[in-house]
Amino acid sequence: MTVLLMPGDAPPARYIAEDRHGMMAMAKADDGWCAALDRHNMCCSIYPQRPTICREFAMGGEDCQIARADWANGVGLGD
Ligand code: SF4
Repeated sequence: MTVLLMPGDAPPARYIAEDRHGMMAMAKADDGWCAALDRHNMCCSIYPQRPTICREFAMGGEDCQIARADWANGVGLGD
């Protein structure tokens, strides 16, 4: 899942990358997860600065369920 940055989003620069379409997005680590994800507790390490898309993502909502299913099936990492 790609987290595109919207105007006004200002995560730390070390977590920003240009995606394959030239859009600015949250960088991904080699494992496909967002680079800002704390792997020890699986929580956002930049929670107060998280992008708009992350703020609007409803935990347990339809998009969340789709992302979880994709992850469980190994789909979507790196997309
Ligand atoms: S909530 Fe945090 S860790 Fe999750 S995708 Fe957004 S910036 Fe990355």
